[in-house]
Amino acid sequence: MIAGVLVELSNKNIDKVFDYSVPSNLEKEIKLGIRVLVPFGRQKLEGFIVRIKDKTEIDTKSIISIIDHEHILNNELLTLGKIMQEKTLSTLISCYQIMLPKALKAKKKVQINKKYDTVYRLGKITEKLNSKQEEIVNLFKKQEIISKKELTNISNTRLTTLVDKGVLIAEKKEHYRLEYQDTLIEKYPLTEKQQQVINEINSSHDQIYLLHGVTGSGKTEIYMELIDQVLKEGKTAIVLVPEISLTPQMISRFTKRFGHNIAAIHSALSEGEKYDEWRRIDRKEASIVIGARSALFSPVDNLGIIIIDEEHSDTYKQDDYNPKYDAREMAIERCKLNPGCKVVLGSATPSLESFARARKEVYHLVNLTERVNKKPLPKVEIIDMNKKIRTSKGHFSQELIEQINKRIEKNEQVILLLNRRGYSSFISCKNCGYVAKCPNCDITLTYHLSSNNLRCHYCGYASLKKELCPKCQEKSLSAIGVGTEKIEEELSQYIPQAKVIRMDFDTTSKKGAHEKIISSFKEKKYNILLGTQIVAKGLDFEDVTLVGVINADTSLNIPNFRSSEVTFSLLSQVAGRSGRSSKIGEVIIQTFNPDHYVIDDVKKHDYLGFYEKEMMLRKKLKYPPYYFLIYIRISGKDSNICYKEALKIKKSLVKYLDNTTILGPSASAIFKIKNIYRYGMILKYKKQNNLEEVLNKMLSAYKSNRKVKVDLNFNPRYFS
Ligand code: ADP
Ligand code: ZN
Repeated sequence: MIAGVLVELSNKNIDKVFDYSVPSNLEKEIKLGIRVLVPFGRQKLEGFIVRIKDKTEIDTKSIISIIDHEHILNNELLTLGKIMQEKTLSTLISCYQIMLPKALKAKKKVQINKKYDTVYRLGKITEKLNSKQEEIVNLFKKQEIISKKELTNISNTRLTTLVDKGVLIAEKKEHYRLEYQDTLIEKYPLTEKQQQVINEINSSHDQIYLLHGVTGSGKTEIYMELIDQVLKEGKTAIVLVPEISLTPQMISRFTKRFGHNIAAIHSALSEGEKYDEWRRIDRKEASIVIGARSALFSPVDNLGIIIIDEEHSDTYKQDDYNPKYDAREMAIERCKLNPGCKVVLGSATPSLESFARARKEVYHLVNLTERVNKKPLPKVEIIDMNKKIRTSKGHFSQELIEQINKRIEKNEQVILLLNRRGYSSFISCKNCGYVAKCPNCDITLTYHLSSNNLRCHYCGYASLKKELCPKCQEKSLSAIGVGTEKIEEELSQYIPQAKVIRMDFDTTSKKGAHEKIISSFKEKKYNILLGTQIVAKGLDFEDVTLVGVINADTSLNIPNFRSSEVTFSLLSQVAGRSGRSSKIGEVIIQTFNPDHYVIDDVKKHDYLGFYEKEMMLRKKLKYPPYYFLIYIRISGKDSNICYKEALKIKKSLVKYLDNTTILGPSASAIFKIKNIYRYGMILKYKKQNNLEEVLNKMLSAYKSNRKVKVDLNFNPRYFS
């Protein structure tokens, strides 16, 4: 037997399949998709088995050992990995590795990660037992297998004696770290509109649906109903949600309906817990997977539906490291591998790309234009901060303060959004103009009040805040710009009676913190939930009747062609947290750009109006969805060498890509991160025939280059 093994040649960015013969004692266990250890030159490498042939060859080396005795990547995932490789032009092995939980990739192997319980069952009774022993044996008449935990009032020595005599047999049973309660509740009767959407999806043979439903229109209930149907056919489901909406609220809604049949994979779990969930799925103990982006690669069989909630979310695109895949695109590819499977993309503010496809009937568009039971959408008031400079208190207009006070009096609740964490955006010297920057990254440091230090949000660098300016030695450093910590401070000053809880990256990094904040706000221990975009999504609080946006301009001013789209969806999402139950909701948006079309369309809850305007701009400026983009990043320790290589690459691309516009090279949005310099080029094209071939050639020319690294990002969200 010969096995083709895909190995990774360390840091050369090369992956290739090599043939190895299989020693006869391992033949039985060799399967596609498992990992094995193989000799390679003088090294031993890990690799995935990607093909098996029956013939023998004399010249090949042998596999040393098998790493995974359970199967790891099934055929479907092996195929999907190849598709991902073609779409991203990354290495195949990186595509396979991204599909596996981290615990599997670690050097220390699987066994250490499993937890076990001891369980007992009855063996043979060969001699007379004393009365205490009889008592224990009798327990097994009612229950065949009893775990040690359940036998707490029986001493260890008693149990050991019985095991030694063979009366009891002790076994180890795997214990999963998470437990799900089966507190199933009755589901709502669906509204007529919800039923219509379900009927439309059920009666169609289309594969991909875009569910455009305003906030609070009951999309989640529709997802659960569709999943229920799929389960009844004996199939499985995957639900993708943005990481930040993977709140305990969302998970509890699903567990209440489906109990332990769900597996939830999110960043609040330890690697061990994630690994447990992964194996529960692999063993068919859960048929519904809920998770962020990478949950798409869960080892479920017979997939019936993939749901992508908040499909416009940035987090579905992996932009930071290879393979830079798009989970929406890969979901559609996975769907195609499962006959009868459907993909449902859901959002109140669909991405322009998806909505344009729906308009062209590439996706099947279904609409929910009203909130459940015709509850009105909240009224949105825009406050022009240009006119409020004299009268406002700190960053609060009088209107916003007044409305917050009203809510506190009525014992209703408020959500406040400011999409920037920390105390101030940066520290600058009033005397000499010095700005505190990270020594490793080309970015200003953010001041954090609670720890009294300056921090880099890219590399984690931190330094204590100094009294004197390091440049001119004057005592004239001041904090410029505003973050959530500063707003918290202002609230205690201007609305001292308000009980405020802050939710952002800094207050939620500890395990369970997120959950605690949400539940204590729900229990009304606080009047105000203040936070970054983390407060905008997926939350459903009955008593929130006011949403305030401190400054709508933070995301509007980001130099990215998607800034309007991102702002429109962020403001619409956060507005959607207001007035979700019986009480009428209100939204106050403070901005210095009150005439911007985004602000106006948010006020009118007019997605279509926004879509039309934004599409016109995109067309004019040759941006997606009219054009495709690729970002080529050239990075390395020496800035000059990077730039020279970038020019070389451009020269050859211009020669071969006749239908593509190439912009740059220029410094990336963040020029230096962790002391590595970054340049980039943007490729814009509608149709370019030899694209893949040309790019692959370029990539392989740089594979063993030690000075510069070349990365591709198809359809990038960020240019860095
Ligand atoms: P979306 O996901 O579109 O924002 P949700 O599914 O969260 O909307 O529904 C909004 C609110 O309406 C939730 O509190 C939910 O429990 C409630 N809801 C949804 N469907 C129904 C229904 N058929 N009957 C009564 N309440 C419903
Ligand atoms: Zn840094």
